[in-house]
Amino acid sequence: METKLVKPTDEMIALASDLLKKGEVVGVPTETVYGLAGDSSNAEAIKKIFLAKGRPMDNPLICHISNFEMLGRVAKDLSSDAIKLARTFWPGPLTIVVKRGDGVCLESTAGLDSVGIRMPSNEIARKIIERAGIPFSAPSANLSGRPSPTNAKDVFCDMNGKIPLIIDGGECDAGVESTVVSALQETPVLLRPGVVTKEQIESVLGKKIDVAKGVLEQVAKDEKVLSPGMKYRHYAPNASVIIIKSDFEKFKEYVEKNKADGTYALLFDGEKVDLPSLYYGGADDDKAQAHNLFSKLREFDELGAKTVFARCPKQTGVGLAVYNRLIRSAGFHVIEL
Ligand code: AMP
Ligand code: MG
Repeated sequence: METKLVKPTDEMIALASDLLKKGEVVGVPTETVYGLAGDSSNAEAIKKIFLAKGRPMDNPLICHISNFEMLGRVAKDLSSDAIKLARTFWPGPLTIVVKRGDGVCLESTAGLDSVGIRMPSNEIARKIIERAGIPFSAPSANLSGRPSPTNAKDVFCDMNGKIPLIIDGGECDAGVESTVVSALQETPVLLRPGVVTKEQIESVLGKKIDVAKGVLEQVAKDEKVLSPGMKYRHYAPNASVIIIKSDFEKFKEYVEKNKADGTYALLFDGEKVDLPSLYYGGADDDKAQAHNLFSKLREFDELGAKTVFARCPKQTGVGLAVYNRLIRSAGFHVIEL
């Protein structure tokens, strides 16, 4: 199959919508990362998404809507917490897990009676949904296990020959996937951190929320988890990534002592070690770290890195999302000095 990589003109947005209505899969920009979109109600379209990514079939997809009327088709019995969160953070990078409505096929939710729903703020994604008149389900548009794509070139790199169309909407703002919160329980549960922070959610709900085990810790493959996606190795470049939890002086001493051929460093802006290095933002700039992380991980592959020693981000605010992605890309390999 030929994969067209095109600019978001009205004509190409119309083409993307038509392809979705016909049950095809399209690469689309969102404010988080690029998505691989297919009609949420069409089991055949959804199967094509899983196949193109090589995604495990038990890992559910997020359903994307463009207005509140669509919400009634894809969800039911919304709790007051779910409604408060939707009214506050939509359109934007928050996915809310609620009871599944008939407009989402079981293939899309991996057989679950719940569904993660989000209303993206990215104008191109919204126009495609509006024009097609149907919600789309979309995971990140990478091959399963690889870092998520934050620009159209990275989508092309993973999806060339597998899907008919990729819309190039430039670089994604956030750079990490949406925050996922389950509103099925009396006390909502953070399933995946993102740029909408735990602190922001708690302030809107006026209560503390729980954090699922898989957010910061490794869960066993056969362990039952609230969010199936947490079980899998994720976001990994070819190089082995090792997070070093320490201050900069100890980091520098350790990596310079342990460097070999193909060893690189992932640093905060302004730092310097005697190793080829890439930078992913200021030590206190968690938003920049989120924005840059995945593209830097992909850049290490282009450079042929074998080992990457990474500076450890803070675990508060958006930093929790950065740490959650980095620790998965490292296969939970952390050295504390
Ligand atoms: P991705 O499509 O790669 O952005 O991953 C979607 C994430 O949302 C995965 O971690 C899923 O496990 C999670 N998710 C989606 N739908 C549900 C659901 N119904 N219940 C729990 N987690 C979900
Ligand atoms: Mg993904």
